[in-house]
Amino acid sequence: MPTLEKVLIANRGEIALRVLRACKELDIATVAVHSKADRELKHVLLADEAVCIGPAPSTESYLNVPAIISAAEVTRATAIHPGYGFLAENADFADQVEKSGFIFIGPKADTIRLMGDKVSAIQSMKKAGVPTVPGSDGPLTEDDGRTLEIARRIGFPVIIKAAAGGGGRGMRVVHDEESLPGAVQVTQSEAAAAFGSSVVYLEKFLQHPRHVEVQVLADGQGNAIHLGDRDCSLQRRHQKVLEEAPAPDIPSDLRQQVAESCINACLEIGYRGAGTFEFLYEDGGFYFIEMNTRVQVEHPVTEMVTNFDIVREQLRIASGRALSVTQQDIKFSGHAFECRINAEDPTTFMPSPGTVTTFHAPGGLGVRVDSHLYDGYTVPPYYDSLIAKVISYGDDRETALARMRQALDELVVEGIRTNTALHRDLVRDDAFKAGGVSIHYLEKLLEG
Ligand code: ADP
Repeated sequence: MPTLEKVLIANRGEIALRVLRACKELDIATVAVHSKADRELKHVLLADEAVCIGPAPSTESYLNVPAIISAAEVTRATAIHPGYGFLAENADFADQVEKSGFIFIGPKADTIRLMGDKVSAIQSMKKAGVPTVPGSDGPLTEDDGRTLEIARRIGFPVIIKAAAGGGGRGMRVVHDEESLPGAVQVTQSEAAAAFGSSVVYLEKFLQHPRHVEVQVLADGQGNAIHLGDRDCSLQRRHQKVLEEAPAPDIPSDLRQQVAESCINACLEIGYRGAGTFEFLYEDGGFYFIEMNTRVQVEHPVTEMVTNFDIVREQLRIASGRALSVTQQDIKFSGHAFECRINAEDPTTFMPSPGTVTTFHAPGGLGVRVDSHLYDGYTVPPYYDSLIAKVISYGDDRETALARMRQALDELVVEGIRTNTALHRDLVRDDAFKAGGVSIHYLEKLLEG
């Protein structure tokens, strides 16, 4: 059985710290890799070893595969944790890691490849009984007549999506028959330029869905479990802002049914590691949109309601062990929220890097803060603006929300601008308090 004696953390910020903490708890040695701009990162200071892998731009550091592999070689690391973002869903990286003799803490490269192509992902999900959005069931062809036929069958509006798309890009909504051929063509050429593949597909455009996702863990040895669902509907420009677990107001038999279909899919595709099935939820129906083959930013809300450590389990699975629990062992209790605190201007949303002069993290029963901030730390301008995740837990939704209100009021970040004020407003918003707003709610609120 392979062992994880020493894990190289191929990421930065709060998630690198999260992985480091899980490793320390399990007595696994840690290697931090960092760019020249990130010498002062908290996990770099706490890791057993640290290696500078390149200049500030992520293309030359956190995305620099040869530099990361060399760092693993010189430090004699045995495994690599990719975190989220950067190389986490890069199948070629996973291949390279394993070919170089290290354990990739994640699924097999082929699984990442399968899920990275949305057309093949949807097809394999359908086969496993996961509910999908009515659509073209495969790539669109050159035949405009055929495409129109599909769109008519589904009914307008429809959405054209790039098979290789990601990050909310490579999509176009079409409202009528006349604009269909042009929209297909433009999306194809944009997809070719942005993702290196012009393959596009078509599905029904849902008009007021919620974003509900299911967390799974599988060991690649025939065992898979789900850890319930999360609602991540509060989004701006397809970026999640505030998440909660469980998703409010979903009939429990439906919740159960969709989670079981995800387990089934994991077993069908031989999934290994932590993963998330993302769905749109509208009018009582679940529609699969994509699977993320990594740990998610919002994983803590699930950890709070299950009292189960997802990152520790990722490490155990990577070491070749079977899942440490069965589905019956997972007990769901209470409710949790997560607010993503970003270094950004609260009105323009422009990044606001700089030195943090004062940082006071909130605390108390049911409050967790995952953050790499400390007094005097300088947020560099080169990367994602996430600086802290404030997480609250309570026996019920109201208690968790009351604790979040209190936690946000206690949070102090001085020296840079943050979106804390937006979160303070959101947790007092009547529609959000009632639960179940759609993915358009936040943008409409901001426009208002
Ligand atoms: P990406 O990989 O770029 O994140 P997704 O397929 O997850 O792409 O879609 C991103 C977002 O686009 C969704 O969260 C949703 O807001 C919107 N979207 C995608 N497909 C549909 C659809 N069929 N109907 C309505 N909105 C959609």
